[in-house]
Amino acid sequence: MSLDGQYDDGNIFAKIVRGEMPCVQVFDASHTMGFMDVFPQSPGHMLVIHKTSKARNILEVEHEHLCQIMEAVQHLARAAKKALNPEGIVITQFNGATAGQTVFHLHFHIIPRYENTPPLAHTSGQMADMSELQKIADMIKKHI
Ligand code: 5GP
Repeated sequence: MSLDGQYDDGNIFAKIVRGEMPCVQVFDASHTMGFMDVFPQSPGHMLVIHKTSKARNILEVEHEHLCQIMEAVQHLARAAKKALNPEGIVITQFNGATAGQTVFHLHFHIIPRYENTPPLAHTSGQMADMSELQKIADMIKKHI
């Protein structure tokens, strides 16, 4: 899918928002939510989305919604730092399939980084063990 196109309500994150697909949730606010990436590039990899915005990418999102998402991103990155003590945190976001985007509901990645532990490449992660993901989510939630 290119940068231009229509928002598809059947995308996986829309289904997560509607409760039609499970997720390991970390954060649920009025406008935004954060949950664990099931193919983590590094332990603690989270995704942050807006719950009602129909933006597929950053070019389409309303300013107010973007501000709400970024507030949640900062909040969760701070919680991840306290919970997991990483040496660094990468925040990423992809626009268009050519750039690497695979889910067309605007989202930000929060990827904690640990010294001497290179992360997996984007979309090359293995499906995580759900109980491990839940343990990490519970650790982060304590700092939210
Ligand atoms: P994108 O490639 O669009 O930037 O990122 C999509 C992200 O969603 C990828 O990192 C991928 O691992 C993650 N992902 C794909 N399917 C699911 C899913 O069903 N649940 C969760 N929690 N993450 C998913």
